[in-house]
Amino acid sequence: ISRLKEGLSKTRETFREKLSVITQGKTEIDEEFLEELETILVAADVGVETTLAIVEAITERAKKETYRSGEELNRMLMEEIQQLLLDTDTAHPLDFDAPLPETPYVILVVGVNGAGKTTSVAKLAHNYDKAGKKVIIAAADTFRAAAYEQLKIWADRAGVPLIGQGQGADPASVVYDAVSSAVSRNVDVVLVDTAGRLHNKAHLMEELAKIMRVAKKKVPTAPHEVLLVLDGTTGQNAVQQAREFTKFVNVTGLILTKLDGTSKGGIVLSISRELKLPVKYIGVGEKIDDLQLFDREKFVEALVG
Ligand code: GDP
Repeated sequence: ISRLKEGLSKTRETFREKLSVITQGKTEIDEEFLEELETILVAADVGVETTLAIVEAITERAKKETYRSGEELNRMLMEEIQQLLLDTDTAHPLDFDAPLPETPYVILVVGVNGAGKTTSVAKLAHNYDKAGKKVIIAAADTFRAAAYEQLKIWADRAGVPLIGQGQGADPASVVYDAVSSAVSRNVDVVLVDTAGRLHNKAHLMEELAKIMRVAKKKVPTAPHEVLLVLDGTTGQNAVQQAREFTKFVNVTGLILTKLDGTSKGGIVLSISRELKLPVKYIGVGEKIDDLQLFDREKFVEALVG
């Protein structure tokens, strides 16, 4: 949790600072205060629905209570916000060391270039490897120049083998190789890094569909997960991107990256509600161990606790 607090420090500090400014010297909640609170919550990207719920709860509480100081009012605010942020779904992702439902467990990682896909693949590989699982990575982004070389550096860092055929190869063929090899070598987890951009959207869609079809030839239930990587610093843009992807791939969960670089970490709480998709992992730094399982309780505590 302290690592999480550190990773979220920008969001945490901005949020706390703003709240302390509006509560300073206040013992009473008025219309102006509620408006300011609303602005702060919206700016933290916790989402309109959540914002309104929080403002309403505070209005109700303010009718029944009086405050002796700004600090007391601030404490009440924090309590109420924490409660309401927790008050939504709490589906926990699978722990890295939990037994997998099936092996090889095939995880497709998708998202636009620059979102943090390659880094996230490596971070996942590292975590599964650390948990004692046998992992391989498939380099199925054969479109972007040097994608293989970049992934190779990360795979080496994670100490995990990489399967690839170089730029221009058929990505579905890479995935077929990887899944076949996983079956014959009793690999637990296959992580597939996919292209973030092709000549056009239809082409990208076709390619992902073909990858899935080919993976199923070896493992009929594959892919077990399709994780969409989104850059957490891009706010509503990330939501838009997610909508595009979910139109043509069955995304099972989200990875939100770069939360260390934003003061709008609240997006994690609004995005899953908006997209009806669970946030499974969050990226809080550039290093290989800067990926965390998303745990709503811990997250909220790191944010406002
Ligand atoms: P891809 O194009 O989607 O494969 O993106 P990359 O994995 O290459 O990442 C793009 C950039 O984002 C790189 O400079 C990464 O170091 C950086 N990045 C990825 N995840 C995080 C994160 O959680 N925090 C920070 N600060 N940077 C990240």
